Amino acid sequence: MVLKLNTLRRDMNSTILREEALRTVQEIKDTISTIKKLESEIEVIENLILELDEGKKLNEDYLNSLGLSPLPKIVLKLRLKGLETAKKSSVIEQKSKLKTKKGILEDLIKCPTCNGMGNITERTYDRSDGRITQIIKTNICIECKGTGKSELSDYIMDLIKLLDLKLF
Ligand SMILES: [Zn+2]
Repeated sequence: MVLKLNTLRRDMNSTILREEALRTVQEIKDTISTIKKLESEIEVIENLILELDEGKKLNEDYLNSLGLSPLPKIVLKLRLKGLETAKKSSVIEQKSKLKTKKGILEDLIKCPTCNGMGNITERTYDRSDGRITQIIKTNICIECKGTGKSELSDYIMDLIKLLDLKLF
């Protein structure tokens, strides 16, 4: 009965971790496309500012796509600069979010028992000859058999490949 319960708990944890991994990978994909979109918008804005400075008439479709309408040059330039600043800080925010999510995935890929090391270092003390001698023994991790990878690792790597993400 206890064994059954432990197996059940293990399966449940594994399901929860899989869901967490799936959600994290999807969020990473979304975050990457948000960053790409913001970066291309910043490029459009920079070009518009350049064109404005060169005295060109701005493309109205581009302006509309940024939620702007034709305005006097000086006002338009201010608006564009403001938008550029806001979008640049969004990129920084999204990049830091991406870093956090990548960290979560890295943790999920690592064997929790040896923390990804593949082996476990044990310290024991020998007092047999009146002195204390420290003995350091390194054993291959039983959980991952030395690979340093968690049970979820293959599943996560498959997800990353499936979504065509370049993460690790
Ligand atoms: Zn391990």
